Amino acid sequence: TAVLTPALLPAVADFVSRDRQLLIGGAWVDAASGEKFETVDPATGEVITRVAKGTAEDIDRAVAAARAAYEGPWSRMKPNERERLIWKVGDILSERAEIFGQLEALDNGKSVAIATAVDVGWSADVWRYNAGLATKIKGSSITPSMPFAPDGQFHAYTRRESLGVCGQIIPWNFPILMATWKLAPALAAGNTVVLKPAEQTPLSALLLGEVFEEAGFPPGVVNIVTGFGDAGAALSAHMDVDKVAFTGSTEVGKKIVQAATGNLKKVTLELGGKSPNIVYADADLEAAVAGSVAAWMFNHGQCCVAGTRMFVQREIFDDFTQAVADAAAAAKIGPGLDPTTELGPLVSQEQFDRVNGYIQQGLASGARALTGGNRWGDRGYFIEPTVFVDVEPHYSIVEEEIFGPVVAALPFDDEEDVARAANNSIYGLAAGIWTKDLSKAHRTAAAVQAGSVWVNQYNGFDTALPFGGFKQSGWGRELGDSAIDAYTQVKSVNIAL
Ligand code: ADP
Repeated sequence: TAVLTPALLPAVADFVSRDRQLLIGGAWVDAASGEKFETVDPATGEVITRVAKGTAEDIDRAVAAARAAYEGPWSRMKPNERERLIWKVGDILSERAEIFGQLEALDNGKSVAIATAVDVGWSADVWRYNAGLATKIKGSSITPSMPFAPDGQFHAYTRRESLGVCGQIIPWNFPILMATWKLAPALAAGNTVVLKPAEQTPLSALLLGEVFEEAGFPPGVVNIVTGFGDAGAALSAHMDVDKVAFTGSTEVGKKIVQAATGNLKKVTLELGGKSPNIVYADADLEAAVAGSVAAWMFNHGQCCVAGTRMFVQREIFDDFTQAVADAAAAAKIGPGLDPTTELGPLVSQEQFDRVNGYIQQGLASGARALTGGNRWGDRGYFIEPTVFVDVEPHYSIVEEEIFGPVVAALPFDDEEDVARAANNSIYGLAAGIWTKDLSKAHRTAAAVQAGSVWVNQYNGFDTALPFGGFKQSGWGRELGDSAIDAYTQVKSVNIAL
């Protein structure tokens, strides 16, 4: 498989030419243990560079730095000063979109075009949106009745205050974007942060770490500790961390909740999904085919919202699933750094083995692959996009999150039938609906148990729209002004006049 891989940009080549360190209290430092780990190019399996392997001791140092910054210069900064700093991060990301995009594609395997336009471009938008929110955090004035003190006069109001030191643990599927979704509102609300990037993809967060000093943030407001699950566990259990925000698997999310009990820190979670994508026979079928492919193939299926249960109305089932399989099979597979690539490698050997394991389970249980089912090429972690039909609701490929380019298609008869089937899941993150009938679209949107519903499109995210899960897909909401709620607490002040 001959591949066209453009040379690295000088800034990217320079960044990966040295071992990378932790950002603690405004200084770049080695891990206390001196240990490092390798980060790998998933298109080739080759080492990109080495990164400091932070552990509990480094988390301690980073939390202390975040606490000092919270109590020091950051607490004295006015909202409009925070606004300007946060806006600046968005501007720098826009200016250096190609550098961030290429580094992201190299470390994660995703297409460089998508990484630059979507991951980095959207991140810049999220920074700017949250810059604006920094000056719009409000309480309210309330007239209390005070039934136990009928004669007095009172003046009462609420204040929305920052939480303090926030731990943020993020996954590898959208590294810079997940760092942004978490950091930008936390900072807008006046918190300080210790960020723990995923061990598979630490690089873009570390490059972002260089931006804070340049933008003018005081040292210690953002600290970055790269490392493995043990570093994340230390952060979630830390007695001087006021809140932990996590995006990742439901399994690890449950561990975070347990670890947080020591000091009952606040917890928000954005976890797994097995989202239904519902195609009615009266849909614009051309748009529905393209959108339904993107629903589970975007980012090589490594999306928590992936529409991996494709419910298709029975009268169009055979034709529609075949059209989806044909469109998926036509996608150009290759390394993310090749700008013409449509489907890149999975992020790691572990993820490859996991996805391949599910495909083998699907085949063994009697499902039929209309397309795909195999490894692609002879190096890197590529898997062919795979469309399964003849599946039963209890198959693991229907019930469990696969996190790869694999979809299970199920026929349905009517609206009630599909809502019941769609809701037959422990998850409730997102849902897609395709129909030209507006009433049916609204009825189905109300009936599905999901935090985000997309009609006649999939992945209909927006910076201003709250995002998060029903059921075991999570706690709390990110994006929109809901994110500020997640990083503040309300204080009631009642004054006897
Ligand atoms: P995925 O299954 O998508 O790889 P994980 O949920 O395993 O995602 O990991 C997401 C993030 O959580 C990563 O940064 C990882 O290092 C971290 N992590 C893994 N285990 C733990 C743990 N027990 N406590 C806290 N963080 C963890």
